[in-house]
Amino acid sequence: MTNDSQKTLQEEMRQLRQEYHHRLIADLNELAHMASLDDKALSDRDTLKKIHQASHKLAGSALTFGYQETGELLRQFEQTLNELMENGAPVQPGTIRLQLQELTPELSVPTAQQEGHHRDVESPEAAAMSSDAEPLHLYLLEDNPSTSEMLKVGLASFGYRLSPFDDINLLCASALQEQPDALIVGSDQSTFSDEDLSAAMRSIREHGMESIPVFVVSEQDDFENKLQAARNGVVAFLSKPVNIPSLESALDYVLQQKVKSPYRVLLVDDDEFSVQHHKLMLEKRRFVVRTLSDPTQVLDVIEDFHPDLMIFDLHMPTCNGIELAEVVRYHTHWLHIPIIFLSSERSESRQLLAMMNGGDDFIVKPVVEDSFVSTIRSRAQRARQLAELMTRDSLTGLLKHTEIKERLCHELARARRNRSSVTVAMIDIDKFKSVNDTYGHQTGDVVIATLAHLLRRGLRTTDIVGRYGGEEYMVVMPDTSAENAIIKLNALRQEFGTVVFRHHNEEFNCSFSGGVCSSDLAEHVDALVECADQALYAAKDAGRNCLVQGKA
Ligand code: GH3
Ligand code: MG
Ligand code: MG
Repeated sequence: MTNDSQKTLQEEMRQLRQEYHHRLIADLNELAHMASLDDKALSDRDTLKKIHQASHKLAGSALTFGYQETGELLRQFEQTLNELMENGAPVQPGTIRLQLQELTPELSVPTAQQEGHHRDVESPEAAAMSSDAEPLHLYLLEDNPSTSEMLKVGLASFGYRLSPFDDINLLCASALQEQPDALIVGSDQSTFSDEDLSAAMRSIREHGMESIPVFVVSEQDDFENKLQAARNGVVAFLSKPVNIPSLESALDYVLQQKVKSPYRVLLVDDDEFSVQHHKLMLEKRRFVVRTLSDPTQVLDVIEDFHPDLMIFDLHMPTCNGIELAEVVRYHTHWLHIPIIFLSSERSESRQLLAMMNGGDDFIVKPVVEDSFVSTIRSRAQRARQLAELMTRDSLTGLLKHTEIKERLCHELARARRNRSSVTVAMIDIDKFKSVNDTYGHQTGDVVIATLAHLLRRGLRTTDIVGRYGGEEYMVVMPDTSAENAIIKLNALRQEFGTVVFRHHNEEFNCSFSGGVCSSDLAEHVDALVECADQALYAAKDAGRNCLVQGKA
């Protein structure tokens, strides 16, 4: 995050606190004003319910914004009302009047220290994540030159720079100078033994490089070896022969590459101040936040926003957070999205009830900023991993067949609403059977994963890429004409043609063909896919390594 955007967020937070201060005074005055009601009105259950709701809401936000004393007063008052309403005890209007009158303390703006939970300085962790990533530099310890070469070429196609070593001492000396991002150990044990490796790991630690994650790729993938690796602090253990895309996803996961696309959080809360406050806390740490004050809109917003995680307030006037979670949980394809309740509710039994009804966690207001953000981050990270396992193909990391078709339907519906065009492309690797036949299935897999990677990195973040079949991909490009799609895909086609693949000492290139069709020509999803498919056939017929635009 740039300094400028940090400053803007800090300024927004400052303004929000100022506005809240005024609103708190107004709301407290309004509540205190109730003290002038007569005994009959103050014994009326409906009036008490209203007072209860107002003081509950105010207690939560007052504590959130650091008004400790006022928050606690409100909390005690709320407790008194709770007991009255739950146990049906006789109402004593005099006591209520007294407590209402107490609610007009002199309010001063809390100092930063009092607020304690608010920290405007970006954490080093957040700063590290927001910096522009350089290509990652990996060290490889491997005594087999052809494995070294295969890893070097394979990982290069995923954007990693790999320096191979076959000597532990050289590697350690060089790592001290360069501080690589990760170390991959191909432990074949022919030139270096377990003891050598353990000694190398110790040496790496002793030289202050304990933060460099170590990955092991080994032929000996029995329990003993894995235990040894775990004791040496190895972060991931993969079996040989190594599958490059699996190694890449392990690297990607550990090195937090995925955090590049920020986590998306949907916040549902009827209290505008509370919602803005939590939104800013998360935005400061690079989350993308959508807020919603009307719970009845939640289904449309989830559909449109695709959150990684949702935070629901527990007490809202239209429906409570538990009811809302139940409605959302009827939609089984959103089951993987965690729901976290955020409320000033302190009753453990009610918290438990909330957790039993579709909630994944319960965070009590006022939140402690650092732990709030890290809870949300780790929940979101885990949810995204699970979602990816469900929807993504393991070889390429692209969306699976049904998922990409679903996304196409979604984009088509959106294009219809916005009167825009969406273009779909079917892409297929040329003469791929002969790649498999000549160089083997494993090399074929590298080609498939490389094209996937190239498409993922080369297209806009709003474009959606899926693995439609074996060596066939579908690309969905919203707000794009067929002509522009062809220009973009042609550039990628040329780039793919320059990638050099290797098998032992042989080098080869590959190409792809593609058919493109825009929703201007075919409105229905099946017709659109059929049109792009026909165009793909035409491209193959025209001699391959080209793109063809579909006809109506
Ligand atoms: P064309 O240019 O006409 O597309 O020729 P082609 O050889 O690419 O076409 P064909 O569809 O006959 O061959 C596709 C091959 O892709 C056949 C299949 O064995 C292979 N294949 C499918 N899935 C995978 C995979 O996951 N890995 C590997 N290595 N090969 C795969
Ligand atoms: Mg093919
Ligand atoms: Mg094919």
